[in-house]
Amino acid sequence: SGATVETDVAIIGAGPVGLFAVFECGMLRMRSVVIDALDTIGGQCTALYPEKPIFDIPAHPAIEGAALIHRLEEQAAPFAPLYLLGRRVEGLSATGDGYELRTSAGDTVRARAIIIAAGAGAFGPNRPPLAGLPGYEASGGVRYLVSRREEFRGKRVVIAGGGDSAVDWALSLKEVAAKVTVVHRRPKFRAAPESAARLDEAAARGEIELAIPYQLHGLEGDGSTLTGVVLATLKGEEKTIPADHLLAFFGLSMELGPIADWGLGLSHSHVTVAQSTCETSLPGVHAIGDIATYPGKLKLILQGFSEAAMAAHAIHPRVFPGEALHFEYSTSKGVPGA
Ligand code: FAD
Repeated sequence: SGATVETDVAIIGAGPVGLFAVFECGMLRMRSVVIDALDTIGGQCTALYPEKPIFDIPAHPAIEGAALIHRLEEQAAPFAPLYLLGRRVEGLSATGDGYELRTSAGDTVRARAIIIAAGAGAFGPNRPPLAGLPGYEASGGVRYLVSRREEFRGKRVVIAGGGDSAVDWALSLKEVAAKVTVVHRRPKFRAAPESAARLDEAAARGEIELAIPYQLHGLEGDGSTLTGVVLATLKGEEKTIPADHLLAFFGLSMELGPIADWGLGLSHSHVTVAQSTCETSLPGVHAIGDIATYPGKLKLILQGFSEAAMAAHAIHPRVFPGEALHFEYSTSKGVPGA
């Protein structure tokens, strides 16, 4: 499974800074592949604050997170980057003339240089601390997102969590599932009031079962096929809900993850770089944006943009050895298709 692709520059992270790196590389005729653990581009801007205005992007007095990402995607589009989304970069190893990345989806990406624009690390679901979890995750018994509602048709589903995702999916899946049980540790849901009210109405009609105040306590089954979810109150009263699936919606968290094991110089979970090139302790591996640190670093999108330009210029001689790079403005050269 997985694809094998070759490119000039592999960019880890499709946040604002990784997206701008596509543009900067493209302006120097370097092709890029962008890999992100999330299913959508945009990093923190999309995942954490799509509708919040940002006030310190030059020439944009105010622009919402999602709108900024849309513009960056448009700006990168002429260079036709390949986006490999929904997969985490797990491994980095040196090859004869560059590096090879391996992803959680089994892809291999070979590149002359690497740009790590991984923010605070890969986003992943907060997972409940339950015994035997990996086996049930692998079988799809336990999940953290719904990609196709139809997969739950006729199934008994336990949904854990008290936010919008839990409530919205409970209301949606009750239309197809055999049974939906919502587990929450307190009566109050953090969801939009309108959705929370609809949940209460559905529960009153018997369309959804509410298990309150309960927490997840255990998983039942043969280690792969889930047959039930064990719940417990804080006082230790337990009950088991027969179930084919557990959907846990406890939010997203970020972790540096595998990047910490690549032998890069680190300082407090950030990658240390040379300020003038953003090169890490591995030659040809650069880090930019929130993940990179050096004296005077500011975790601002605009600083990440400038780092993208510096990294691209520093990488150019690796991709085009012996070819002099004459500094040019975008206005003199133009952008393909523009
Ligand atoms: P990120 O946006 O964090 O993106 C990194 C991406 O890399 C993620 O999508 C992640 O999934 C992916 N990734 C990481 N590791 C891997 C891996 N191993 N494999 C695959 N993918 C991986 N900044 C401003 O300048 N102005 C503001 O007004 C502002 N407001 C903010 C408000 C909030 C609420 C928050 C949370 C942040 C704000 N910031 C603001 C900060 C800004 O969002 C960050 O500086 C910016 O997102 C950093 O961009 P990035 O591309 O470096 O990383």
